[in-house]
Formats: sequence, C-alpha cells, structure tokens
Amino acid sequence: MIIITRPDATEAQIERIVDSVHQWGLKTEVSRGVLRVVIGVIGPEDKIREKPLGAFPGVESVMPVLKPYKLVSYEFRGTPSHVKIGPVTVGTPEVVLMAGPCSVESYEQITFIAKSVAKAGAKILRGGAFKPRTSPYSFQGLGKVGLQFLHEARELTGMPIITEVMDTKDLELVAAYADCLQIGARNMQNFALLREVGRTNLPVMLKRGMAASIKDLLMSAEYILSEGNFNVLLCERGIRTFETMTRNTLDLNAVPVLKAETHLPVVVDPTHGVGVREFVPAMALAGVAAGADALMLEVHHEPERAKSDGEQSLRPHEFDDLVTRIRRVAEAVGRSL
Ligand code: PEP
Ligand code: MN
Repeated sequence: MIIITRPDATEAQIERIVDSVHQWGLKTEVSRGVLRVVIGVIGPEDKIREKPLGAFPGVESVMPVLKPYKLVSYEFRGTPSHVKIGPVTVGTPEVVLMAGPCSVESYEQITFIAKSVAKAGAKILRGGAFKPRTSPYSFQGLGKVGLQFLHEARELTGMPIITEVMDTKDLELVAAYADCLQIGARNMQNFALLREVGRTNLPVMLKRGMAASIKDLLMSAEYILSEGNFNVLLCERGIRTFETMTRNTLDLNAVPVLKAETHLPVVVDPTHGVGVREFVPAMALAGVAAGADALMLEVHHEPERAKSDGEQSLRPHEFDDLVTRIRRVAEAVGRSL
C-alpha cells in the first residue's frame, strides 16, 4: 500500500503517519518528492488493508499496489532510487562505468587493469573471484585470494569493487570484501541466495537470467527488497534467442520498460549481451542512449591469455576510446559521464 501526502502536509503530520504505521508492527519506506511525500507501507496485505490510513490529516490518497511486484514497482516510491556503492552513486544523471576483467587472475593482472580503467574514467572495478562457468573443467576463480587482490586494487585506485557471490555459504566472506554484491544470471532465481543478500545492507546488482522475462527479474528483485535491502540495481545482460551470430541478444527494450516499471537503477552489460569484442562498443553506446544508469564492461590487457571471456573483453585502449564516445552520447541525451 502507498500513502501519498498532500502538498501542504506538515512534517509533524508525516511523522505521525509513519509513527502510527510502525506502532502497528508494519514498516515504511519514505520517499520525498518536490511536492509530495510517498510513504510505502510494508507488511502483510490483509493487515495493512484493515488500517485507517486515509483518516490521517495530511493524506491525499491511499493506493494499493496492484502489480505482483510491489516494493520494486515505480509507484511504490514515485521517484527513481539512488544506490550508493562506496563513494559512487548510481541513479543520477551521471552515467557510471563499471569495468574490469571477467575473472581476477593475479595481483599483477587486476591491479594493472584497475589502474588503466580508473584512468580512462571507470568509477567501479569489477572482477570475479567466484566464477559461474558452464563447464566444471573451466577456471572457477581464485576465491578468497581473488577477493584479497580486489581489495588491494581498491586500495591502489580508490575504486569500490563489485564481485559475484554464487552461494549462500560464501556470502559472509564475499560481503567482507565487496562494496557491491553481484548475483549472476545463472542465480537470478536462487531464492535462498536472494533472501540472504536481502538481509545484508550491501548494494546488490541482480543480473537478468538468460531465459528470464523482465517480470521474472522484477519478481526476483522483490525477494531482496522484501528482506529489507532496498539497495538493488537491475542489470540487462542479454537473453538467449534463436540468433547465433552473437553470444546472447542484448534486450535493450528492457531498459525503458524497467525505467517505467521500477524505481531501481538499471545497468546494461553489453559485454555479455553481445559476447563479441568488436560489437561491444556499439551496444554500450546504445545502452546509454536507451537510458541506462550505468554500464558494466569487461576489460583485459591480454585478452588472448584471459582465463575467461577474453573474446569479448575490450583492450584498455579500446575501453579508453569508448569512454570518449560514451561521454558524447551521454551528453546528447541530457546525461553526463
Ligand atoms: C559476469 O559478469 O562475469 C558474469 C558471469 O555474468 P552473467 O552472470 O551475466 O553471465
Ligand atoms: Mn564474463
């Protein structure tokens, strides 16, 4: 249920509504717009419905959220959310670049790439220490050692880090190092993991499953928010289609649809969406033009020797060149970089 206050509602009236809701054992999420305050009421539907929310002074209207996803729905906040990852805020007019290798491979590799992407304009460092690989015989990531290398790269560059957590049993360890947790496409419907990351207060980037609809993605995000963690970003990373010329089909339709359906920031990952290095820049630019709040890009200085996803990773000079073009597109659509 959402409560929308009148433009002339006083702070005291708003406080009284919030206090009363809390006294009933329900939770609130308060969003302050220029004219109105939207108070989201969180709790069991039947319990909320029996409360006289419309009777409070200062209330203009009370509306049920009719969508199956409630806390993530745009109406629930009535304004886009900002998510803070370390010192970086995603969800503002500034487009945020997340970049780094697919996998953390060594101290030298991650620190070299971190320094080069930071210099080019990336704000967040990515790198997998726990890797979800299609084959059990492929490189599975360095695990804890990889997290320690990421930590050192953060010390050197000041960039916050995003890294994947694949299993609830690793969450405590990954959470001790990460500034943002990544839930990979293959785990988008691992509901136990979604609930667990929902109990932390770390930002979480939830990647769309390769065979998941936009609604499925929103329902999965709802799991995280329903546990109390509202610091969630949604990532379009391509879906499986009948097309074989590219690894996946980057569904850019998802960007404006998500922007309309949810208050959560939207990230586009053109690297996995396309899977072929030479086509990544075009789709990165398209992602920004479509309205992405952030981009995630894989970068490797020796892609031919990369332990994963070398064929789709940009070389540092290609990333550098792309950043200049992203800036121009961002400015053309009223954003900045
Ligand atoms: C990744 O970002 O390295 C990754 C494995 O992505 P996805 O889960 O989208 O395949
Ligand atoms: Mn990858």
